[in-house]
Amino acid sequence: MAHQIATDTCTACGACEPECPNSAISHKGKVYKIDAKKCKDCVGSFDSPQCVDVCQSGSISKIAA
Ligand code: SF4
Ligand code: SF4
Repeated sequence: MAHQIATDTCTACGACEPECPNSAISHKGKVYKIDAKKCKDCVGSFDSPQCVDVCQSGSISKIAA
């Protein structure tokens, strides 16, 4: 499981990138993307997904299993 960024609503504000404990978020072109291989849903690091907490456009969600 991992989280993903909806590229149609991401404003590329950059707020999520420094919050990820696994450095899974990076700037790709005009938007930000989450590397599903690196995203561990913040398990073991935080009680809630840090990127979701800081995203003001609500663009980050968990990928359905
Ligand atoms: S859920 Fe946590 S580990 Fe996954 S991308 Fe967001 S901040 Fe990084
Ligand atoms: S915090 Fe949200 S809007 Fe900002 S770059 Fe990350 S996904 Fe995009």
